[in-house]
Amino acid sequence: MSPFDNREFNGHELVVFSHDESTSLRAIIAVHSTALGPAAGGCRLWPYTSTAAAVTDALRLSRGMSYKNAMAGLPFGGGKAVIVGDVRRKTPALFEAFGRFVDSLGGRYITAEDVGTTTADMESVAKHTRFVAGLNRRPGEFGGDPSPKTALGVFLGIKAAVRFRLGRTSLEGIRVAVQGAGGVGYHLCKLLAQEGAKLHVADVRAEAAQRVRDELGANVVAPESVLMEEVDVLAPCALGAVLNERTIPAIRAPIVAGAANNQLARDADGAALQAAGILYAPDYVINAGGIISVAREYLGGSSESQVVSEIEGIPARLTEIFERARRENRPTNVIADQLARERISHGPRRLVA
Ligand code: NAD
Repeated sequence: MSPFDNREFNGHELVVFSHDESTSLRAIIAVHSTALGPAAGGCRLWPYTSTAAAVTDALRLSRGMSYKNAMAGLPFGGGKAVIVGDVRRKTPALFEAFGRFVDSLGGRYITAEDVGTTTADMESVAKHTRFVAGLNRRPGEFGGDPSPKTALGVFLGIKAAVRFRLGRTSLEGIRVAVQGAGGVGYHLCKLLAQEGAKLHVADVRAEAAQRVRDELGANVVAPESVLMEEVDVLAPCALGAVLNERTIPAIRAPIVAGAANNQLARDADGAALQAAGILYAPDYVINAGGIISVAREYLGGSSESQVVSEIEGIPARLTEIFERARRENRPTNVIADQLARERISHGPRRLVA
């Protein structure tokens, strides 16, 4: 099936495939839109079982980046790269080959880390292209691993959702189920614990969940049941498509607000959440802290405190979406998509660079 026939093809500007024989690199870069600037979005390394699955993921993720960057007010379009591979077998040479691939697009796409890739991998990428961010920082410099900044935005977004849905201004005693205690999930748990939230944490890597239990006193729950926990907030921080026709009827939390990209299996699942009385914080709005950090690192000229104050804009953006969704009785994801498309079609002049 050609990308044009893929159900996730959404007027993407460019989809390119690369194969490097010496490193066995098999990668796809999808550029959804450059209307607001060069397409920026991370590089995911994942053991896709088929090329079609990898293409679908790249298409979905790159459109999400267009919307995310537009909603975050960044002067970037949306793109994403996926590498088909096994995280246990990745090598610096693989990422150097990927760097040459990124460079071949001449700046139309800017990469960074995502699931399965790290700052160290981006250092290898940077040997062959300048179109990369999320690199190692020297002490005192901001930037680098975006996970803590993503976690900060999600934390502030959870507070906004709790205020809107439960009328509570404090997270003291609020029960939060976190699916995935990786880069973002771990930092999110720390922020939540500091505010007195009660944590229910699951991770398929037992040691990741145990770390949160040992350090923060979290209650470890099974990965199979974390979505169904009786909590106030469900925070998906692992992989996408966890909100679907099978899981939504079983969710007991009145709020879903987490870091994972593409949490809804289909756009229609946003309506199912609304019908179930669950407030959904659109993923690409709440999880924009990382891209804000990466973008400012790439562009230069910003300080750590400026980046933090930009991330502090996330709760107001979410509240605007929640209020409009309630007023118009429409799902939050539909409102967010509409706002993002409006920003993209109005072009870069409306944005605060
Ligand atoms: P990560 O790989 O560091 O962490 C993900 C964690 O989820 C891992 O510990 C993994 O073992 C666990 N996991 C996987 N499947 C699971 C399951 N079924 N149940 C429970 N745990 C499971 O990734 P991350 O950087 O923390 O990102 C998490 C999510 O947030 C991803 O969807 C990513 O795309 C999204 N995101 C991340 C950032 C960022 O700054 N890192 C920014 C925006 C969005």
